[in-house]
Amino acid sequence: MLNPIDPQLIKSVAELGRYSDAARGIGRRIALVPTMGALHEGHLSLVRLAYHHADRVIVSVFVNPTQFGPAEDFARYPRDLARDMELLRKVGVDVVFAPPVEEIYPNGDATWVEVERLTSGLCGRSRPGHFRGVTTVVARLFNAARPHVAVFGEKDYQQLAVIRRMARDLAFGIEVIGGPIVREPDGLAMSSRNVFLSARARQQATALHAALHEARALVRGGVRDAAALCEEARRRIEKEPLAEIDYVELVDAETLEPLRQVRTPAVLALAVRFEGTRLIDNTLLEAETL
Ligand code: AMP
Repeated sequence: MLNPIDPQLIKSVAELGRYSDAARGIGRRIALVPTMGALHEGHLSLVRLAYHHADRVIVSVFVNPTQFGPAEDFARYPRDLARDMELLRKVGVDVVFAPPVEEIYPNGDATWVEVERLTSGLCGRSRPGHFRGVTTVVARLFNAARPHVAVFGEKDYQQLAVIRRMARDLAFGIEVIGGPIVREPDGLAMSSRNVFLSARARQQATALHAALHEARALVRGGVRDAAALCEEARRRIEKEPLAEIDYVELVDAETLEPLRQVRTPAVLALAVRFEGTRLIDNTLLEAETL
């Protein structure tokens, strides 16, 4: 149900717990949509999806310091809670949870949550410590919000796989749901970081989607060699002078292990820097793709 009134803004873990207990007490199903704010249509699509699975939706807005490396963009990451609140009001969210850092990381805390194996490749390789920060904050958000379901975007495919694993391994009892990638009209995956792109880089960044699209066509045309497929995708991206490829890889959709031969379900995933801004994208190859 859409609910066009102001969302309730909650800043403390204790207050969120009280909200959640009260909602559960009257039989409501709660969904959590974790975000770092600077919201766009991709985030809002997850909120709409959340309402298909729950009666109450909590959106967290928290730029999580522990998932940024020392040389990464934590300080300049875009923040505008008033704008986020307005977008969330329009989409009808019940609660916006926007805690200060000390609520999530109390003084003297000493606990990390770490998922092994799934975090060793792809973004985990180029961003050491990133997923440890993600799983730690999401575990804390899960305990604070106590939702029945949590919704994450397939745009961050590895993150979704890692959180599914964590939720199962730690028996959170939370159903983790993935929402499809929302794109700009020219195919660029929406991202809060797209605002950092210069006009030139923004134009060249459409190569990511183009490379994935062409790779799908190659698979449909019979290409089965993973190295050849990734090489073609690289060649397409390298046509853009500003593109610096971090990785282009074909991996098993569940284990995220690299594949030598195309089989399904698999994910073709890539990360590319444009003038220092790192963008990621991916496409899921399912049986009907072959
Ligand atoms: P972020 O605020 O970037 O941490 O993202 C919060 C959630 O939104 C994550 O689950 C992301 O995967 C998801 N998300 C970000 N961009 C998109 C997009 N273009 N389409 C769908 N989901 C997205």
